[in-house]
Amino acid sequence: MKKKYLICILAVAFFFEMLLNISILFLPKIKLEGDSYIKVPVFEERQLQGAIVYQFGKKTKKKVTEKNNVDFKKIGKYRIEYTYSYGFLTIRKNRTVEIVDEEAPKITLKGEKDKTICPNTEYEEEGYEAIDNYDGNITDKVEVIKEEDGILYKVSDSSENKTEIKRKIKKEDTEKPKIQLKGKNTVYLNLNTPYKEEGYTVEDNCTKNLTDKVKITGTVNTLKVGSYKKTYTVADASGNVSSVTRTVIVRNPSKGSNCVGKAGVIYLTFDDGPHATYTPVILDVLKKYNVKATFFVTMAGPDSLIKREYEEGHTVALHTASHNYKTVYSSVDGYFQDLEKVQNRVYRIIGIRPTIIRFPGGSSNTVSRNYFNGIMSILTDEVEKRGFSYHDWNISSGDAGGTTNPRTEYNNVVSRLKKNCSNVVLMHDIKKHTSLAIEDIIKYGLENGYTFEAIVNETEAVHQSVNN
Ligand code: ZN
Repeated sequence: MKKKYLICILAVAFFFEMLLNISILFLPKIKLEGDSYIKVPVFEERQLQGAIVYQFGKKTKKKVTEKNNVDFKKIGKYRIEYTYSYGFLTIRKNRTVEIVDEEAPKITLKGEKDKTICPNTEYEEEGYEAIDNYDGNITDKVEVIKEEDGILYKVSDSSENKTEIKRKIKKEDTEKPKIQLKGKNTVYLNLNTPYKEEGYTVEDNCTKNLTDKVKITGTVNTLKVGSYKKTYTVADASGNVSSVTRTVIVRNPSKGSNCVGKAGVIYLTFDDGPHATYTPVILDVLKKYNVKATFFVTMAGPDSLIKREYEEGHTVALHTASHNYKTVYSSVDGYFQDLEKVQNRVYRIIGIRPTIIRFPGGSSNTVSRNYFNGIMSILTDEVEKRGFSYHDWNISSGDAGGTTNPRTEYNNVVSRLKKNCSNVVLMHDIKKHTSLAIEDIIKYGLENGYTFEAIVNETEAVHQSVNN
């Protein structure tokens, strides 16, 4: 009997099952358009698809009710409910929308990312800022970790997105100290005057108080004319070495006396010639008044005029071959090579090697500083050692640039003549106005009790003061 019951129950169950299946088959269904789970980055407004009611396997136009509270600006998991009422039944379907923050925060460093600092110092934080797309400013959440080679900055946002950035710190000093000399870099000192160190200061990026650590090398012999060097050297704590040099020029001030020689004598001196046109005019005037003069010659003009100067009793003296300051004053050797060249010319013409010379620009020139500090101090000494005697002037006629007017030139000369000194007059026989002024100058001299002489080896030289 029991078996019969069981079969009966099974049959009834089967019947209901069938009934249910058939009813489900005829019930409407909601199908989602798109996925049932959607992940959306926070703040990204997105148009979501909807849902459609299907019945008997076909789309219907039946309206689905949607319950949607998704906030795209706020992270979280949201459920969208789609419902459709079918008689006393409610058909449901859900969709999950997850608003997420997957963007890591950004850390910005103030100051350099690769920083070099002085050895034996600690890095001083220059600042940082952490900004997250969702959390906003999270600078206070930054973890600052000191590492061997720098500083690590780490931060996580509320969604556990992590960022880290490293500031590399190198402890190194490659900058040299700076030595600043007090006083001038080139010092002019009179013979037998003590040298006084004016001092210096040192600045360094990493090492303090370096001024006391400067070592000075080089000596100045104030008893001997010459150019001396003092070198100042200092090293910082990292061994960066700097050095600067001061040039000390010892000069002989006694060479500056210019009221010397025979009182009331006029030495007419002509530089830069000979000149094919003007030198003969001057020679004719000198001849007419039986006046002897001195010609400091160059490589210019015809040889015959040097011969004539010599034969008519004038002194042929040496000026320069090139008359180029750079050539003449860049080195001591350069000076003597130039001088030798013009000396050879004169020797070739008259068979004599003159030793009476005049420096281009005179011994007081400062233009030579552009080429060699102290060269005039050396040369004025050296020429005498080599058997030359140099002659400057104490009256400038102004003919080389001051004037082109013979009358002005005449006035320049006669107004400066002195009875108690020798008068060495600087003129240039390459100038037309000089050839025109010379006769009146001679006449004035003769009428006023002066005598004219050529410079000879025994003549006491007028020396200007040396300025380089
Ligand atoms: Zn000259």
